[in-house]
Amino acid sequence: MKSLKCDVCHKDITTEVNQRGYFHVSERDLCETCYEQMERSVVRPIIRTKQPFNYEWFDRLVRDSMEKAIAKGKWEARQ
Ligand SMILES: [Zn+2]
Repeated sequence: MKSLKCDVCHKDITTEVNQRGYFHVSERDLCETCYEQMERSVVRPIIRTKQPFNYEWFDRLVRDSMEKAIAKGKWEARQ
């Protein structure tokens, strides 16, 4: 068992690492709720609008969005 806190909402995530409910993205720890919010507000709109898909650019955008969410304590939909 590993005890962690979500970097965005600061909720405790106490679960085994490879169990669902814990996500490690770009050196950050996310709970399932925050991960799903990231997918919905950040990842999907990008995938829908950005052609051709560029992984480096996408990865940087996800990191930036995550840092912003961590600073604010919540996710914001991209414009
Ligand atoms: Zn969270």
